[in-house]
Amino acid sequence: MPPKLFDIHSHLNFPQFDGDRDEIIKKMRENGIWTICVGADKKTSLESVALAEKYEDVYAAVGLHPTDDEGEFDTEYYRELASHPKAVAMGECGLDMFRREKGDMERQKNVFEKQIELAAELNKPLIIHCRQAHKEALKMLSAKAGKLKGDIHFFSGNWEEARQYLDLGFSISFAGPITFTSEYDEVIKKTPLDRIMAETDSPFAAPAPHRGRRNEPLFVGEVVKKIAQVREISFEAVAEATVQNAMKMFLNA
Ligand SMILES: [Zn+2]
Repeated sequence: MPPKLFDIHSHLNFPQFDGDRDEIIKKMRENGIWTICVGADKKTSLESVALAEKYEDVYAAVGLHPTDDEGEFDTEYYRELASHPKAVAMGECGLDMFRREKGDMERQKNVFEKQIELAAELNKPLIIHCRQAHKEALKMLSAKAGKLKGDIHFFSGNWEEARQYLDLGFSISFAGPITFTSEYDEVIKKTPLDRIMAETDSPFAAPAPHRGRRNEPLFVGEVVKKIAQVREISFEAVAEATVQNAMKMFLNA
């Protein structure tokens, strides 16, 4: 049985959940919610895989975040982790010019490029974090067009940028901020229904009406609700499409 909702990007492995992680996963199970627990460096990637091993409705992504200080990307280490049957994606990886100085771009590009290569080698989807660097990210992904698939997580660009990612075969996922800004309504409306996914990025960026609190995968329904409102279709239609898209992208189902 597929889940009712699929939060394709959470960080249940982060310390913010140390006190009640098992309880949250139990509640998710009761509500039919699955998630991909996303790593951002060696430690959190290892923890993602451990969590996915423990819970059947949790999957893992392994990768190195662009603003992490780990240094060089350790291809051997991540290749080994990514070969776990429940490691369904490489990431989160990408480019972030919002949180770093310009001089850091070369290091970020290098780390991203290695993860693009590993994803292509292992035929895994990429989970991409990109902030204020869409032009550069699109250039790097275009160079391997046809060999890559994946999701642009926490989408923060405009329709023109979204269209280019879609042309490359990527999907777009939206997080909590769409519930309190109309900035992304155009992209939400124009992205084909079979290319949209929903996420929380919990513990960060809680959607309305939970804003300011710790976010959790249980709140992914608020993101689905807003997508449905903007597209003027039912909650159920968006829930079903986002689950199907996630199953197809990450579970080959
Ligand atoms: Zn994240």
